[in-house]
Order: sequence, then structure tokens, then C-alpha cells
Amino acid sequence: MHTLTRRLLVVGAHGDDETLGAGATIARLADEGVTVSLCILTNDDGSRSAAGAEVTNRTDAIELAAKTLGIERVRVHEFGDNRLDTVSHLELNQVVEREVREFEPDTIFATSMCDLSTDHALVSRAARVAGRPGKGPVREVRTFEIRSATDVGEASGLPVTFRPNCWQVVDESHLERKIEALRAYGKELEPWPNPRSERGVRALAEYRGSQVSAGLAEAFEIVRSVR
Ligand SMILES: [Zn+2]
Repeated sequence: MHTLTRRLLVVGAHGDDETLGAGATIARLADEGVTVSLCILTNDDGSRSAAGAEVTNRTDAIELAAKTLGIERVRVHEFGDNRLDTVSHLELNQVVEREVREFEPDTIFATSMCDLSTDHALVSRAARVAGRPGKGPVREVRTFEIRSATDVGEASGLPVTFRPNCWQVVDESHLERKIEALRAYGKELEPWPNPRSERGVRALAEYRGSQVSAGLAEAFEIVRSVR
């Protein structure tokens, strides 16, 4: 796929979605000359503020993580964390459509509709709308899995589950860059056995890799591929 992908747009609800979902693949593709742009819809820690913790702007962390992964272009929007369901579909779709118009990606990676996070599901839908078949440049749309969102959706009885049909093989250096990018988000890297621990991230890469008899991999669900 990477020989055909020249311009990749990664769409996430929160800073860290891109790294948890596709960080090692992004690092590999960037190394191979693919131009990567990142679009994040929210820039605060609204769910933390609801829990009484200090609200922080995540833009600096997003930019640092993006740099670590080799992402060239970063756009962080101003919607509130865990509040995307208060934004009209029209507005959300228009934001992602504008990204597609300006960057002209041939490939989109986005969060999954199968996640327990409502933000993730809404962003997944908006990315599909922006990348729908038509006159636009997008030839392929994929969704990625995020530990403690996609797997928790499965463990919470959601009627749809993530069904990978594409495995991106990565090497140790790509996985290390993914873990380093996660460190940019500081408190997002938890101690084992939390799924967002360094060991948890590595365990998923080993599991997905071993599914296809490769050392390490990230799994994706291809929504559409026209090649
Ligand atoms: Zn998220």
C-alpha cells in the first residue's frame, strides 16, 4: 500500500489517538517518503476537568508527538473533549472536508466506529464523509484500533466490533518511536497492566504481528480501497 500512498491524512478526536492507533505505521510511512498530515478535533482535557483535575491544552504535546513520528503538518481544532456530540454533524463534517480539500490526501486513517468513546465514533463518521467516493482525491480510508477505547467497546457489548483486514508490519525502531511519541503526552502512559502502558502497547504490536507471522504490526480495518 505504501508505494501508492503519497499523502496520508490522519484524523483523530484527541491528541494521542493518532499515536496509539497508528504511530508505528505513521513512522514507517514517513520514513518511506509519505507526506503525513494530522487533524485533531479537540485540544483540551475536558473529561479530566469534569473529574476535578486541571484542564490542559494539548496542542504542544500533539506537535511534539507529531514531530517524533515524522508528521509534517498538524491542525488542532478547538472542539471540547467528550463534547463532540454537541457539535452538529454538518460542522464536524465541514471541518474534516476542509482538511481534505486543503491537503488533498490519497489515504485517510481515522478512529473506529467500534470504540466506546462517542468522540471516536463521530470522528470516524466525519472522516468517512470527507473521504467518500466522488470527485475528491481519497482512494483509501482505514480505521485503526486504540487500546482502552476499541477493546473496551468490545468488552462493553457494543453491537459492532473492530475487524482488522489489513496488517501493517513495522520494525522495532518504529515501535520505539510510537512509545516515545506517547511519552509526549506524559500522563497518558500508564503503568502495566493498563492497556496504555508501554508494555501494553508492545503486547498489542506483538499480538497483531504474530497474527500474520511477522514480528510487530499494527492492525487496520479498511473501509474502502480503490487502487
Ligand atoms: Zn481518543
